[in-house]
Amino acid sequence: MPQNLLALNWKMNKTPAEARAWAEELREKLEPGEAELAVMAPSITLPSLAAHLPPGVALGAQDVSKHESGAYTGEISAAMLVDVGAKYVVVGHSERREYHGETDADVAAKAKQAQANGLIPIVCVGEGLDVREKGEQVAYTLKQLEGSLSGVGPDVVVAYEPVWAIGTGKTATADDAEELAAAIRDALTERYGSDADGIRILYGGSVKADNIASICGQPNVNGALVGGASLKVPDVVGMNDAL
Ligand code: 13P
Repeated sequence: MPQNLLALNWKMNKTPAEARAWAEELREKLEPGEAELAVMAPSITLPSLAAHLPPGVALGAQDVSKHESGAYTGEISAAMLVDVGAKYVVVGHSERREYHGETDADVAAKAKQAQANGLIPIVCVGEGLDVREKGEQVAYTLKQLEGSLSGVGPDVVVAYEPVWAIGTGKTATADDAEELAAAIRDALTERYGSDADGIRILYGGSVKADNIASICGQPNVNGALVGGASLKVPDVVGMNDAL
């Protein structure tokens, strides 16, 4: 079983000064736990975090350009993220898919670009409420996964985030999370063979300290991607202790 990953997605929150204060508070309060802890922060906060995070806490970004370098105003390259100490990058978050029109092909291109530079992509997939209500969540999510992993190697993390559970307080049950995680594991095994055993599959959507243990206790769930509950250090410490 791979080590659990507790990945904190701050989304568009915290200035560099606020990130530094958060990192210093975490340094005071965090006891090393069983899980790997990683902070997916706004790119502009990464240098500040790199200097102040407790040792062993990994850094990540929330998006990356699919291009190597050049005339792409406003974009940030994988090489730039590596240079400031990032290990992970989230790609294909539902908010990027919805508000920035990212397709599965874009997501795969970003994941490949990340891997080519030594970053580990956290590839997000998951269905909306309409799909869930029709009971088509497995087929929908696996199709999204297939497109999003096209040409992508096995050094990857997959996050299953049902859109209806993000920021709504509605968490999928542990059984719902496992249903999709098991289906994702089978699809990964078909694609990567035995390398799939080491791939972390995360669940995301209204995860907090009091539900993380039951969700991550499922056989195919190897951690969580956490939004709202990642912003306050005591919540993070509570989740880290629960794993
Ligand atoms: P919440 O934990 O706020 O529901 O967000 C989940 C998410 O989108 C993490 O990427």
